[in-house]
Amino acid sequence: KLHNMIQELKGNIRVFCRIRPPIESELSQDALSHIKFSDVDDKSLELLQNSENASGQGTVIKTYPFSFDKVFSPKSSQSEVFDEISQLVQSALDGYNVCIFAYGQTGSGKTYTMEGSNIGSSENSGMIPRAVAQIFETAEALESKGWTYTFEAWFLEIYNESIRDLLIGATGGNVKVASNSVKAEKFEIRHAQGKTLVTDVIVVPVKNGREVHSLLKRASSNRAVAATNSNEHSSRSHSVFTLRLSGYNSLTEEHCDGVLNLIDLAGSERLSVSGAVGDRLKETQAINKSLSSLGDVIFALGNKDQQHIPYRNSKLTFLLQNSLGGNSKTLMFVNVNPCVSSFGETLCSLRFATKVD
Ligand code: ADP
Ligand code: MG
Repeated sequence: KLHNMIQELKGNIRVFCRIRPPIESELSQDALSHIKFSDVDDKSLELLQNSENASGQGTVIKTYPFSFDKVFSPKSSQSEVFDEISQLVQSALDGYNVCIFAYGQTGSGKTYTMEGSNIGSSENSGMIPRAVAQIFETAEALESKGWTYTFEAWFLEIYNESIRDLLIGATGGNVKVASNSVKAEKFEIRHAQGKTLVTDVIVVPVKNGREVHSLLKRASSNRAVAATNSNEHSSRSHSVFTLRLSGYNSLTEEHCDGVLNLIDLAGSERLSVSGAVGDRLKETQAINKSLSSLGDVIFALGNKDQQHIPYRNSKLTFLLQNSLGGNSKTLMFVNVNPCVSSFGETLCSLRFATKVD
């Protein structure tokens, strides 16, 4: 109860930390030796850093404590992680706007967490397919109480502060394109009556998990086509999967509109502007700007004294304006690479997460 009240006060923002297991090529490094999980609860951890003591003789261990709403160790499975977010996902059916982000350096497990390692293979499937499956299942169960839901999905990418449609080429008789009577520039973001519309974006009505699955496949092939090195490209762009839910209850005549946004963020590794030129410089600045703007917005939402929420500082926060703050719920996964060689990045990621929590 008290925890719920605290959540309310914090504006429904939660932060979960997930440390991934070392992958095969990392087993020779002493992965995880610098991370101490709490043996008291599953909400805190310490980063340990060996450093020379003041006199230069011997070493001291410096500790950096962090606490989160939840810490997932490398042993946590996808289904254990999903168990902790399923209620949040469910609240989209109750009319909330929900955002779930994955934040972390490239290679920390963001895409694994959101999509899974192999879309379609059930054990490793990530939060997007699980969330979608649960939503369809629950919607079906709610039919007995008079509810009928319709669903629409779109999938965008934000790269260099511009929007790209990841569903280009999606098939199905009922694919439609969001348009507006007023001629607008392609992919212009509009907010009206609490709803967000991106002009010319492909909006696909979906009825089941299979249909969403084919959209996810379409999106990943569009990403691969767009870039010679798709991993490199995806680490430099944000992907935003959105499912809009509209419910109507024929018994009570209630309406209920919710939105679920699942966002795989660009890699958070500290990108130095110095030395970068041309496109690389532009890219670097765009990533730095959008991640720091996201942090600023979430931080401002959590700070009751702050009146102005700086949504307009980046495309990402402007796009998600209706789903951040107000009647909305936000969850951020901070994904962590277990290698000692990533100590500096890990420290930065955890600090970022602490700031927004
Ligand atoms: P990112 O999207 O942050 O760049 P990835 O999700 O691609 O990182 O993860 C990097 C590698 O680690 C991939 O090979 C992925 O399959 C693997 N991986 C990430 N998280 C886990 C996990 N929890 N369990 C097993 N393997 C994981
Ligand atoms: Mg990725």
